[in-house]
Amino acid sequence: MNLNLYGWGEAGSESWVMIDLGVTFGGPQEPGIDLIMPDISYIEERRDRLLALVLTHAHEDHIGAVAHLWERLQCPIYATPFTAMLVEAKLREQGLPVTMINRIKTGDSVRIGHFDIQYMAITHSIPESHLLGIKTPAGRIVHTGDWKFDPDPVIGKVSDHKGFARFAEEGEVLAMVCDSTNAMTPGHSGSEREVANNLIDVVKKVKGRAVVTTFASNAARVKAIFEAAAANERQVVLVGRSMHRIVEAARSSGYLAGLPSAVPEEQAGFLPAEHTLILCTGSQGEGRAALGKMAEGNHPHIRLNSSDTVIFSSKVIPGNEKSVFRILNLLSEQGVQVVTEKQAPIHVSGHPCREELVQMYQVIRPKLAIPVHGEPMHMMEHARIAYGVGIAQAIVPHNGMMIELAPNLGTIVDDVPSGRIYIDGRVSELAGNSAADDRRRLNFAGVAYVNLLHKGREIQKLTISSRGVPTQLLIDHGAQFDEAISAVFNADGVLPSEEVLGEKVRQSVRRMYKLLWGKKPLVEVEVTNIEEFAS
Ligand SMILES: [Zn+2]
Ligand SMILES: [Zn+2]
Repeated sequence: MNLNLYGWGEAGSESWVMIDLGVTFGGPQEPGIDLIMPDISYIEERRDRLLALVLTHAHEDHIGAVAHLWERLQCPIYATPFTAMLVEAKLREQGLPVTMINRIKTGDSVRIGHFDIQYMAITHSIPESHLLGIKTPAGRIVHTGDWKFDPDPVIGKVSDHKGFARFAEEGEVLAMVCDSTNAMTPGHSGSEREVANNLIDVVKKVKGRAVVTTFASNAARVKAIFEAAAANERQVVLVGRSMHRIVEAARSSGYLAGLPSAVPEEQAGFLPAEHTLILCTGSQGEGRAALGKMAEGNHPHIRLNSSDTVIFSSKVIPGNEKSVFRILNLLSEQGVQVVTEKQAPIHVSGHPCREELVQMYQVIRPKLAIPVHGEPMHMMEHARIAYGVGIAQAIVPHNGMMIELAPNLGTIVDDVPSGRIYIDGRVSELAGNSAADDRRRLNFAGVAYVNLLHKGREIQKLTISSRGVPTQLLIDHGAQFDEAISAVFNADGVLPSEEVLGEKVRQSVRRMYKLLWGKKPLVEVEVTNIEEFAS
């Protein structure tokens, strides 16, 4: 969920450029939430001074929130054609205009206020990824975006090594904001070309149908899979909405020129097994993706059998282990053979490993390293790597941290509001006090409702009910609950207000559950004074 802000000038009259505006995906901690976006209220309050949104590349964690949040910002957007095309599609889906998107060519620079931003080609796992070289009157910044050094990325440009070196030589780089994803992994991330060659060999060994799944956005991998099919006299059947979308975008950008077109999935059943390669979504075990449906036997057009082989040209993203294992087991139960990156070298990461990070620091030589894009452990390790190659200072930022780059380089000057917005069905809510937060709490210990009518100290009617709490507790210990609540009404002193009574009842009911059950459910209390109605 990437969002970076670069500011220039004195507070109050400063100007801002935003780089990337992505989403992340909900997990078990966010029940019922598919998408999570950054809270943009800080910059929204200053949106008259937000000059532009500059996009580095088209991954969801960098562009996924644009269509949801642009209306609150209303600024021009800069992107290269492939990224622009994917953002445009999302804006159109939301019924929004697309005229604010400015297309820029890789290698070109754009002048935005005091920022002169150059888009430099860098390899990653999607076409048109960019390192941004940012020049300001106060000094230079390198914003790497997501990257790796791939000598043969299969499609798109190789990294602009000369450009990076020139940028660092022409003026000292104050700070580099850099990808930390693989900071704990030694060596080099490897090349898409090696994967492409290995895929040809793996598909060659398959007897029946070959079913290959990968990240849809990795157009180079998609191309390699088309090539592996062609090399083995197989026709490609594309299955899954995002697979179709990316192939379309990659084709119209010219990245898949010369490849044969795919066979519609309704016709997959008519192809001989040994001439079929099914390319599908679902490498992360998503139940609703094509492979998930096939594994469950719910796919409308494709039914797998024991002569098929499913090839995962992917890795398991941390957090998705359980859902991937579920699919692997479902497939294995049906006798389907499974090949993953553990059996054959058919995946490489799109992010730099330690050797590549060292190489980048040796070229850019920033005075300050700012590791981003990783868990805290990855960013801390990244900082150690930077110190290891002689970088003077590294700051591992947390969300909202504002770091001064000039004139006082490397000073932490503020901590601005930041947070997460959950997209919950058709409603967006700030994380922390949202319906999804309630659902997570309910998930653990359920909820109990207390409804109480009283006349002064005298309780006229009391009902307790619950959901997700063992009902036997109320049946066996009803009297104890009654007693605990009566005690609240019979405490010494003046009878407190309804509100205070309600809170005291809530606490005593929670205590009672803790005592009898060992867990505290959420407790909702409604206290009504009948005398008020009588008067
Ligand atoms: Zn990326
Ligand atoms: Zn990313």
